[in-house]
Amino acid sequence: MLYKKVLPALLVLTFAVYFIASYKGPESGVLTSVNSVNMDKYWRAKEVKVEEGQFKLEKNSASITSRFRLRNFEMYFRMKTTNGAMGQLNFATAKSYDVKNFRGYTVMINNSDYSTGNAQKTGSLSKIRNNFVRTAEDNEWFDLTVSVDGSHIEVSVNGKMISEYDEPLNPKRIERLTGMILSRSFISLRKANDQGEIVVAEMKIKPNTEKSSRAILAVKADTLTDVIDSLNQREFPLIDFHVHLKGGLTMDQACQHARANGLCYGVAANCGLKFPVTSDSTLNIYLSSIKKEPVFKAMQCEGREWVTLFTPEAVAGFDYIFTDAMTWTDHQGRRMRLWMPDETFVENDQQFMDMLVGKIEAVMEGEPVDIYVNPTFLPAQLAPRYDELWTAERMDRVVDVLMRNQVALEINARYKIPSIAFIKKAKAAGVKFSFGTNNVKNDDLYRLEYGLKVIKEVGLTADDIFMPRAKGERKILKKGLPAKVTG
Ligand SMILES: [Zn+2]
Repeated sequence: MLYKKVLPALLVLTFAVYFIASYKGPESGVLTSVNSVNMDKYWRAKEVKVEEGQFKLEKNSASITSRFRLRNFEMYFRMKTTNGAMGQLNFATAKSYDVKNFRGYTVMINNSDYSTGNAQKTGSLSKIRNNFVRTAEDNEWFDLTVSVDGSHIEVSVNGKMISEYDEPLNPKRIERLTGMILSRSFISLRKANDQGEIVVAEMKIKPNTEKSSRAILAVKADTLTDVIDSLNQREFPLIDFHVHLKGGLTMDQACQHARANGLCYGVAANCGLKFPVTSDSTLNIYLSSIKKEPVFKAMQCEGREWVTLFTPEAVAGFDYIFTDAMTWTDHQGRRMRLWMPDETFVENDQQFMDMLVGKIEAVMEGEPVDIYVNPTFLPAQLAPRYDELWTAERMDRVVDVLMRNQVALEINARYKIPSIAFIKKAKAAGVKFSFGTNNVKNDDLYRLEYGLKVIKEVGLTADDIFMPRAKGERKILKKGLPAKVTG
């Protein structure tokens, strides 16, 4: 009798153990390769071709999804994209492995050129820590690492950390992202458009079940963090295009500051007479020294003489170039730097303003720059009368020259310029904007405070924001350099 009762119970138990075991997935703490042998055991492949040990995802929605659920893990890929292929690595995907019901986090895979394809590039922790910098190119193998440890998410490409995020307790999410919360769930690699292929040469996973030693932080009572988080969740490109490695600020510190605050950076070299970069050869040395850094590579064109020092081909190595109109030679032949009181001569306010507007027009017309930075800056003796001196007519002339030459207008956080009135005029005309701090030290990067204020007051949208041109579309190559110095 006992035998009759125990046997069915044993069978059920055996089945249950087998069932749980088969869903346990790869061994905890061990880096396990995903290959054609263990594929079916641990993963579901949909529309995936296996050729010479490589997984190829071509069709939109082709996917590899885990049969097991994980909370903490490290995942490593060696992969490449072709012809604008875009993909997503999804995790913390709520209840189902079905991507249609996806609610969790996404790491972007997209190596399209700037101003083409999705603006977010490989390594972006989408809607949380958006990355707009290209970290790899199509047809080029790259390494992608994603890890979740307690509340901490890290994404690296080719060994450089791109995104980093600590999920706070009760994180604030905009309505359509409710449920984007770390959880024990399925992991899925998915093709996300119809173009090209994603080729995976290696895919490894290490489940981590140990309890994390990291503390989960409460939400910072900080309205600026809320504003930045909310803009990121709406995929607004929060890029500081005007950062300098000055005053001891290192590249690593700048990148860390960007990741910690949910911003993306463009780091600019000062290039011109008596500046660190003065020739094609110093320019090329500089560019190759920062090639792998996850920041936009920018050139600040200094003085007016820069046009005589470099070739367009060398300058085109930068993602974008910018200049201001703070250095020029006046009607009496005096070379002025407007931020230096003893080098600035204002004999007649109105005449000075007309000369300044004329110089801005000459520079933006003649120099093939992408962005006008430190815009509308006035020397100290005139700055208190900014609103009076920047008349509607003067503003219109500057807006016109920017539009005619497709130059973006910087919203400068350091000087809090241009004025809201000026920015409204420029937006109405269709001018694109960039945010820029123009820091001079290692502790004055802040968080684009003036830019955030402008977004709200003027109602800027993602479409209003400048993005670097694709390689073949660089202005410097299309327009060339002027025959002589402009101002
Ligand atoms: Zn600068």
